[in-house]
Amino acid sequence: MAAIASNVIPKPYPTTNAIVSSLRNPSSCCFALNSSLFGDKFLGKSLVASTWSIQRNRSNGSAPFRGLKPIKASSHTFDVVVVGAGIIGLTIARQFLLESDLSVAVVDAAVPCSGATGAGQGYLWMVHKTPGSDKWELAMRSRELWEMFVENVQRQGMDPLEMLGWKKTGSLLIGRTPKDSAMLKRRVDQLSEAGLRAEFLSPHDLLLEEPGLMIGKEGGAAFLPDDCQIDARRAVAFIEKVNRHFVSEGRYGEFYNEPVTTLLRSGRGEVKAVQTSKNTLYNKKAVIVAAGCWSGTLMHDLIMDSGFDLDVPVKPRKGHLLVVENFNSFKLNHGLMEAGYVNHAEGALHSSVSASGQVDAECLSISMTATMDAWGNLVLGSSRQFVGFSTEMDESVINRIWERAGEFFPTLREMSLRDFCERRKVRIGLRPYMPDGKPVIGAVPGLSSLFLAAGHEGEGLSLALGTAEMVANLVLGNPGKVDLAPFALENRCCMLR
Ligand SMILES: Cc1cc2nc3c(=O)[nH]c(=O)nc-3n(C[C@H](O)[C@H](O)[C@H](O)COP(=O)(O)OP(=O)(O)OC[C@H]3O[C@@H](n4cnc5c(N)ncnc54)[C@H](O)[C@@H]3O)c2cc1C
Repeated sequence: MAAIASNVIPKPYPTTNAIVSSLRNPSSCCFALNSSLFGDKFLGKSLVASTWSIQRNRSNGSAPFRGLKPIKASSHTFDVVVVGAGIIGLTIARQFLLESDLSVAVVDAAVPCSGATGAGQGYLWMVHKTPGSDKWELAMRSRELWEMFVENVQRQGMDPLEMLGWKKTGSLLIGRTPKDSAMLKRRVDQLSEAGLRAEFLSPHDLLLEEPGLMIGKEGGAAFLPDDCQIDARRAVAFIEKVNRHFVSEGRYGEFYNEPVTTLLRSGRGEVKAVQTSKNTLYNKKAVIVAAGCWSGTLMHDLIMDSGFDLDVPVKPRKGHLLVVENFNSFKLNHGLMEAGYVNHAEGALHSSVSASGQVDAECLSISMTATMDAWGNLVLGSSRQFVGFSTEMDESVINRIWERAGEFFPTLREMSLRDFCERRKVRIGLRPYMPDGKPVIGAVPGLSSLFLAAGHEGEGLSLALGTAEMVANLVLGNPGKVDLAPFALENRCCMLR
């Protein structure tokens, strides 16, 4: 068998996985950028905290991490410390930097994109989201914020495709049976009533949109022409650049490859600092834990000796994604998802959780998703399973994803996955799964200054900007645009005193 080119997203701890440290400069560092990503708007703001030692290496300034002097001191003070540099942590940092005068540190056990974020397929779709559900308001606000984000990029003369891998491809939720079609028609009505452009496509109309697709005569699709996608890695790199713009004002610091190990608290239970493997990061206002699927165990460890326990039931839900590079066997005009995706997510949710609330088996489910990224690579998803924190590649899961895609795109059946071996990549990530299907966003009761933002499962990219806004409003005491109540910890994260 030919050699398989794979790119497996590692665990967040570089000490146990060499791939992570090879992605970026392994030393924690922060640095200034000369970019004017936000014009003059944010220049000249007051210098809140400045403990930095930053030097550009003029002889070699091309690569972003080279030539920058790592911070040597071991204790630093910021207004806000964000734990986790996935899409959630980084967008929270961005929100504080852009919308307040506060200084922010981001600390990660590894580097950005080493968690679920780096594996994400990149759809920011509404087609599979349900109007009126607890998450709907957050989803709509996030969608609006992504639109504003993209417009802002365009206004500054940059190309969102290049900067974020952003494309307005529209999305198709595809059914193959009369039952699916009836469900999709109802969904189209609901989405239209909720204010989105949505239409039901008959098999004939669907074929005009996607000639490579085969669904038979009884299916159809819900089509949302305004749905968009990004490339998670590009978007994260861009957000990092935006954040680093504030280093020169002394308002931003990155502490990568530094797992958070301890919280320092005052006698009154106020969280004063986080301790990493190398530094103590004091916070004046807030510590926000946004550590994806690791948030549950991390919170448990961090507050272990505080006199009470908090059970944040976030679990890792492993996902494989198959990327076929330079794909040109047929054209994909939109982003696609099989209707079963919605049921699979919900079905697996219920069937995999026992009466005692424990996640039982690995419950592998595969549902077809297909997107073409900004560089002409076909991205096929995806799997869901509960296998702990393992990110090992499972060849049988990849084959199942390929076979499932072949059921929708017959051309793929004529090709062997082996033919694509040279051009294939596998992305694996651990979705932060919450048993009740919605993220947990809010203040940690009993520990003032401590906040949590985790559990976005398969929607973290699409919900990131709304989540970041919610967290910042909460910390700043601003009125929010989205109701916090459905996401609060109370009654969802068991507290044992
Ligand atoms: C295959 C796949 C496809 C997906 N596709 C999509 C999609 O198309 N659209 C969408 O909206 N969502 C998608 N998702 C979901 C999305 O990727 C996640 O919801 C999102 O990335 C979660 O972001 P996060 O920042 O919460 O977690 P993560 O990205 O996992 O980041 C958590 C970070 O915390 C760090 N950390 C852990 N422990 C510590 C510690 N002790 N100290 C410091 N740092 C620590 C980790 O190193 C990591 O960097 C997909 C997920 C997968 C797996």
